[in-house]
Amino acid sequence: MRALPASLLAVCGLIATACGSTGSGGAAAGQAAQADATTLAPAPTQARTKPQARAKPQAAARPLEGKTIVIDPGHNGGNYRDPKAVNRKVNVLTKWKPCDTTGTETNSHYTEAAFTWDVSNRMVKILKARGATVKLTRADNSSVGPCITERAAIGNKAKADAAISVHGDGAAAANHGFHVIMPKKINGPVDPVVADSRKLGLAVRDAYKKETGLPYSTYIGSNALDFRDDLGGLNLSTVPKIFIECGNMRNAGEAAKFQNSAFRQRIAVALADGLQHYLKA
Ligand SMILES: [Zn+2]
Repeated sequence: MRALPASLLAVCGLIATACGSTGSGGAAAGQAAQADATTLAPAPTQARTKPQARAKPQAAARPLEGKTIVIDPGHNGGNYRDPKAVNRKVNVLTKWKPCDTTGTETNSHYTEAAFTWDVSNRMVKILKARGATVKLTRADNSSVGPCITERAAIGNKAKADAAISVHGDGAAAANHGFHVIMPKKINGPVDPVVADSRKLGLAVRDAYKKETGLPYSTYIGSNALDFRDDLGGLNLSTVPKIFIECGNMRNAGEAAKFQNSAFRQRIAVALADGLQHYLKA
């Protein structure tokens, strides 16, 4: 979440663009899942011995049918190019804040924006295959914004059953671990969904710990749970919403994991499972 000087981030533009090329897979996710299903169908000989394997109940295959999920990939790969637009102050009810920030990066310049974009698109594929309607708050990892106010509005407009903003933190190198951020009551629009957001946060915290093996944050919150009233993405949400700081991108061990695509897939599955546990509870 922490901002970096534009001069540092200018170096990362190419990387961020390259990472962004894994995006836009959302629309193709259903087709990909179908293709996989076709490929994985039992061979004729297997079909004779195990006919029941072919007929799975629809509900089990698409447990999130009818659910709408909004995923907010934190920051944007192009933010460093337009400081004026990004630094424009917006009202998040408890204070005025910049429209967005550039986000952090690992010491080898893998940007938070590229990380969140990649993980979010993996989540889209997983959740669509499970039957959910899924919407992202940005369309690529090369442009600017949207503002945090708009990111919240997208979840509200979609009447999302759950929304999640994906981030990686930029803390001191010795710090490590992940944490979930949930809203507080502010005498504002988020108040009616504070309780459900907490449930969502607990479900995601538990799935993330179990499936990624990453520890609770050593430097923020209690048991990886943090509550804040200064985030526009939460204050302005009228649907259950949380942030996750997946780990500390400035910690060498976690940076190495985040730069590994297999580990990012593990993160995406864990987050999808957490959302599903909340939505099916
Ligand atoms: Zn962030």
